[in-house]
Amino acid sequence: MVGQRLVCASANPDKVREIEAILLNCGVVLETRPTEIADVEENAETLEGNARLKASAIAIATGCAALADDTGLEVDALGGAPGVRSARYAGEPSDADANIEKLLNELHALGATTTQQRRARFRTVVLVQWPDGTETIAMGVVEGHIALERVGDGGFGYDPVFIPEEGNGRTFAQMSADEKHAMSHRGRALRTLAEELS
Ligand code: IMP
Repeated sequence: MVGQRLVCASANPDKVREIEAILLNCGVVLETRPTEIADVEENAETLEGNARLKASAIAIATGCAALADDTGLEVDALGGAPGVRSARYAGEPSDADANIEKLLNELHALGATTTQQRRARFRTVVLVQWPDGTETIAMGVVEGHIALERVGDGGFGYDPVFIPEEGNGRTFAQMSADEKHAMSHRGRALRTLAEELS
């Protein structure tokens, strides 16, 4: 795998750097998505389906191996929602603050106040599509619960309300990026992928 080039389906430079840092260990060279390739509509019913849509669009457009990831926050009291619809939970366009507001309101309406009643997990699927159409897939999960209110100002998305089991009661938004990704869903999925690729 040393020197293997992968085009990253994400156009988010922070995400690309993070993925690159983890995959460097297995000798993969990550390339940024060419700017002329448009975003694909993420309308699959599963995280794996969305990752496949994104990776195959890039693999077809570039003729190169492509890597894509998709993440969902699963809240047990909400039957696994927002899940695959995490980005647009409160509607279009995607708005992290509105998503958190909706999540806190829904749990409040259910009277879910204890850690057990607010159990949740982040799940990430990473998928590499190779030019011959075969795939390598890995998954990462971090268990935790939803805070009663926003705490911390780091990170992004649902970070201010997600308290991982291993975080000593802190939200992801109260952690450094390195500390978060040592235990995060995406960190775990990418390290598993790195093992599969090396
Ligand atoms: P995506 O698949 O990375 O686009 O993420 C889908 C949704 O989950 C978006 O609303 C993100 O903000 C949210 N999300 C993904 N990863 C994280 C994370 O590490 N912390 C908090 N929210 C996240």
